[in-house]
Amino acid sequence: MTVVPGDGTLASHAGERPAALGEPARPGPVLSSVFHLAPAPGGPALDGYGRPDNPTYRDLERALSALEAGSGDPVRTTTFASGMAAISAVLFGLLKAGDTVVIPSDGYYATRPLAADRLAAFGVTVREAPTLGPYPVEGAALVLLETPSNPGMDVCDLPAVCAAAHAAGALVAVDNTTATPLGQRPLDLGADLVVASDTKALAGHGDLLLGHVSTRDEQLAAKARQWRTWTGAIPGPFEAWLALRSLATLDVRLARQAANALAVAELLSARPEVREVRYPGRPGDPAHAVAARQMRRYGGVLSAVLPDAAFVERMLAASGLASAVTSFGDVRTGIDRRAQWGGDVVPDGFIRISCGIEDTADLIADLTAALDAASG
Ligand SMILES: *Cc1c(COP(=O)(O)O)cnc(C)c1O
Repeated sequence: MTVVPGDGTLASHAGERPAALGEPARPGPVLSSVFHLAPAPGGPALDGYGRPDNPTYRDLERALSALEAGSGDPVRTTTFASGMAAISAVLFGLLKAGDTVVIPSDGYYATRPLAADRLAAFGVTVREAPTLGPYPVEGAALVLLETPSNPGMDVCDLPAVCAAAHAAGALVAVDNTTATPLGQRPLDLGADLVVASDTKALAGHGDLLLGHVSTRDEQLAAKARQWRTWTGAIPGPFEAWLALRSLATLDVRLARQAANALAVAELLSARPEVREVRYPGRPGDPAHAVAARQMRRYGGVLSAVLPDAAFVERMLAASGLASAVTSFGDVRTGIDRRAQWGGDVVPDGFIRISCGIEDTADLIADLTAALDAASG
């Protein structure tokens, strides 16, 4: 009988090397671009040069593969320098002239201009679809989904959309950044590939950029790996090591972040100044029913619409815990007024709130006071 470990056990041991006498129990990052080779070709060296491979990448990739696989079949993971490097590997490594790709119209804002400008220039037809659908999958080679979508927090029914895409002959890649592999396992829900920005909740300390591509398909895994080796979109070994170190606490960080997000969603929903609070973990949210079927936990990110930009600025100035940051998943709470960047179609007062691991009572007291101050 295989014992399936819980998330805390899985995360804290992910990537661990077998115990070897005299070797460090917690290996540090391998900061080297060159490795000793055998004097003649054909020696046993796995590592030769830092772009194709590095022992620290392998540790992180083993850890991420374990998280993405859960109790299912083995997964292969390639780490990248950032989430966009991972997304680029899937788009450019798999598509060719004449292909059609479907990408989210309401997902991460940098994917759209990359596809519209560069993929189109290489002869790929780009279709955009909202996360809620409908998905124009006929004739598509690849469908890229993002769920929950950043920043709108809409959720798409992964098993249903994957089945429709597969029936049309398309591959499906899911941007799983917002959920992380402990929140949702797209490969178990029908997806062929997972792409993610590990810059966000996965690494979770606001101090590095990183991404990964995971799949159960050997050929797709080989293409992602080859793309990284050819283009050099490799992470720094130090960043890879920091991420590995951070992974150990992913379970406990996500638990607190999700508890905080639910409490903040409830606080905001009860405030007359706030409209359209979106958190898939809140019963009553339009996404809750679908999210409850496919997500294992709901994470720390929510969105809401405040009266206007000035209100958000007053609220941020009055808060002692939430700072203005345009990222999410950090151990500290951050708020981003998305309209200031111009990439998303959202109202001026639309904010994405990323809950940190502060004590729930402290965060609620702080945000309540900040809302009161902003309301005057
Ligand atoms: C941040 C983000 C990305 C891009 O990741 P980087 O690490 O900044 O390159 C891609 N997708 C989603 C959903 C994101 O939030």
